[in-house]
Amino acid sequence: MVLNFLTLFKYSWKTSSYFVSSRRLYSSQFSKYDSISDRYKIHILPALSDNYMYLLTDKFLKFGIAVDPVEPEKIMKTLAMEELELRAVITTHHHYDHAGGNKLISEMKKNLTIYGGDERIEALTNKISHNEILKIGDIVIRCLHTPCHTSGHVCYFIDCETIPEPICFTGDTLFIGGCGRFFEGSANDMLQSLDILSALPLSTKIYCGHEYSLNNLKYALSIEPDNEEALNKFKEIQEKLKKSEPSVPSKLAISHATLLPGVKMLSPVTFG
Ligand SMILES: [Zn+2]
Repeated sequence: MVLNFLTLFKYSWKTSSYFVSSRRLYSSQFSKYDSISDRYKIHILPALSDNYMYLLTDKFLKFGIAVDPVEPEKIMKTLAMEELELRAVITTHHHYDHAGGNKLISEMKKNLTIYGGDERIEALTNKISHNEILKIGDIVIRCLHTPCHTSGHVCYFIDCETIPEPICFTGDTLFIGGCGRFFEGSANDMLQSLDILSALPLSTKIYCGHEYSLNNLKYALSIEPDNEEALNKFKEIQEKLKKSEPSVPSKLAISHATLLPGVKMLSPVTFG
């Protein structure tokens, strides 16, 4: 695979310049859930200015798993409404806007297990390693170490018999239409991390850590204005945001024909 590190660097910083404007597009008023089956739901809960927290719930065994619960009150309120117990927290990385609610949520729910791949994660109880399998109820989660945005970043992949479609919580490693900034790693680290994610089934539903989708695609179209797939995805997401709906989830797909230069060379980017 040919990799243009310089272009990737430029891409990473270019996307960051859109962060401020993306906040204007984001409504913190909505929350919704995806019905995975009769048994499971994923609640998509906006937090802070443009973060997403997630709550995976199991109606049969009556529990929930929170992903990056930076605003614990919203998580606990959703659990109370569904009459479910919080069983565990999975944390993608140590940044405040992802792990900053861990201490409070561990005070709200005693003896809570908090997973993560980095000692710097607040209130961490169980440090996990690459390819470690967590079994929580009937949910089987594979931990994928994806360093670069932070050195201890972990994505959580779920593909088990009880869940009909594969799911991945990608934090700040992979967004819809782009990847995270390189705070603690090189372009080569990001390439290796994206290679890990690109080996997942293309039908995997991606739940990422921020609502950056529209601006990522805006940038893609500034480079490739005739890219039809990017244009269609841009329009689809624009409509969703107008209706105050989140752009997540999106299916993982790899398409060299549709991606922007710099990312297309290394590129699992989410479209679909
Ligand atoms: Zn981050």
